[in-house]
Amino acid sequence: METIPGKADVVVIGGGPAGSTAANLLAHRGYHVVLLDQARHPRLMVGESILPHIWKYMDQLGAAEDIEKAGFIKKAGGTAIWRGVIRQMRLADFGFVRPSLHVERAEFDEILLRVAERRGVQAFEEVVVRQVHVEGSEKSVSYADRRSGQEGRITCKFIVDASGQGAVIANQLGFREFDKDLRFMSVWGYYENSAYIAHGGSICEWGKRREIRPTTVQAGIGDWGWCWHIVQKESTSVGLVLAPAQAAEFKSGGDKLEERFDRACRRIPIIGDLLQEARFIPGSVHAIRDFAYRPTQLAGDGWFLAGDAAAFVDPINSAGVVTALYTGYAAASAVDESFKKPASRAYYTEVFSTLVRQRLSLFRISALPAGQNSFPEDNALALKCAQLDSRDEQELLFAQTQLTDRPGNLAPMHAMDPRLNYTSSTRYQEVPALIPLGAELQAAG
Ligand SMILES: Cc1cc2nc3c(=O)[nH]c(=O)nc-3n(C[C@H](O)[C@H](O)[C@H](O)COP(=O)(O)OP(=O)(O)OC[C@H]3O[C@@H](n4cnc5c(N)ncnc54)[C@H](O)[C@@H]3O)c2cc1C
Repeated sequence: METIPGKADVVVIGGGPAGSTAANLLAHRGYHVVLLDQARHPRLMVGESILPHIWKYMDQLGAAEDIEKAGFIKKAGGTAIWRGVIRQMRLADFGFVRPSLHVERAEFDEILLRVAERRGVQAFEEVVVRQVHVEGSEKSVSYADRRSGQEGRITCKFIVDASGQGAVIANQLGFREFDKDLRFMSVWGYYENSAYIAHGGSICEWGKRREIRPTTVQAGIGDWGWCWHIVQKESTSVGLVLAPAQAAEFKSGGDKLEERFDRACRRIPIIGDLLQEARFIPGSVHAIRDFAYRPTQLAGDGWFLAGDAAAFVDPINSAGVVTALYTGYAAASAVDESFKKPASRAYYTEVFSTLVRQRLSLFRISALPAGQNSFPEDNALALKCAQLDSRDEQELLFAQTQLTDRPGNLAPMHAMDPRLNYTSSTRYQEVPALIPLGAELQAAG
C-alpha cells in the first residue's frame, strides 16, 4: 500500500468530475497533487445525462479517447412532456459536432480519476478528510485512512475542495446556505428493457438504442416536480424530483420504497408507456432530499470550492457535471496562477470567486421553478456569465428552459441586455403526438 505523503503542493478533496479535473490539470502542469476520496471507485453516483460541452474539457484532460472507448450511449437531444405539451430539441442543431452522452457515472467518474493518475496525480481512495486547517501561510488537511485505520495530516500550499455534497470546507467554515427556492427530494432506480423516445417523436424498443439515438426524457409532475428517463448501456435510469408536498405524499405511501417508486413511475403519462415491457431492477432504488444549496463564500486564501462542494440546484438542465468540470478547471487555473505570481494570489482568488459565482447564478436561475427567485441579484451575475457564452450555448440554455416551461427566468437578463435574445430561439419543436412503438414499421410493411 502506497504511503500517503505528509506534504504536497496541492491537496484535492474528492475524486468526482470536479476533483479529477482540478487535480489532473495541476499535476499535468508539474505540481505535486494528492487527491483523497472517501470512496473506492467505481462508486455509486447519480447524474447521468451529460451535455455536449464536456468534450472541450475531455480534450484538455487527455480523457477523450478513454471516454469514447467506454461506448456510452449517444443521445440525440431532449424530449420534455410538460403541462401536456411535448417539445423536443436536437443537440446537433446547436453546433455541437461531438455527441452528448448518457453515462454510467460510476464508470465515467472512474475513467476521469484513472486518467488523472496517469497524468501524475497521487490518488488515495477510502481516505476521509475530517478537517481542513486554512489559517496561516501553510494549509493542511487531516484525514482518516479507512484501509489502515490510521489518521494523518498533509501540509500543502493550496486545497481544492471537490467533496460534492459532503462540502467539507463549506460545512466546517459555515458557508453552506440551503436554497429556499429549491427544496426537492429525489428518488431514482433502474429498469431493464424500457422503450424510449427518439428525436422526431418515435417510441423505439430498447434493443434499438445504439442504432437510433434516444433523447433524455423529462416529464413534468404537477406544478414543478418532474421525472427523468435516461437510457444507458445496460439499463434505463428513471428518477423522480419531487417538490415538498409531492415528497410528503410519496413518503406516506405505506409500502416498501421500491414498490412505491415503481408504482409512481408507471403512473406518469408517457413514462408509464415506455415502461410497459420494462422490468424494475430490485435493489436499485436510492433517495436524496433537500439537496439545493448556495455558497456564501467560494474561495479564500489558499482554498477553493469546486463542483457540488460549492453549490447545487435542481438538475433539470443536466448541467451538474459540466459545472463540476468548469469549476475544477477554474480552480486549477487560479492555483496555477497563484503559484506563478504569489504576490497576486488574492487577485486570482477574487477572479475565481467572481467567475464561478456568475456561472453558478446562471446555472441556478435557469433551473428555478418559473418566477421563483428570492435572490434577484443573481440576474446581473448570471448575465455576466451568459455574455461570455457562445451564441449556440446561449440558445441551448434558452431552448432547455423553453422545453420545461421556464424561459421567463431568463427575461430579467434579456431586459438588461437585449442582445441576449433569449426570447426568439426556434431551435426546438413541438411534437403534436408521439409515434407509438412499431407504428412506423407497420406503415412500412
Ligand atoms: C438526483 C440528481 C440527479 C442529477 N442529474 C444530473 C444529470 O442528469 N446531469 C448532470 O450533469 N448532473 C446531474 N446531477 C448533478 C451531478 O451528479 C453533480 O453535479 C456532479 O456529480 C458533481 O460532481 P462533483 O465532482 O462536484 O461531486 P461528486 O461527483 O459528488 O464527487 C465528490 C467526491 O468527493 C468524495 N468525498 C465526499 N466527502 C469526502 C471527504 N470528507 N473526504 C474525502 N472524499 C470525500 C465522494 O466520495 C465523491 O467521490 C444530478 C444530481 C442529483 C442529486
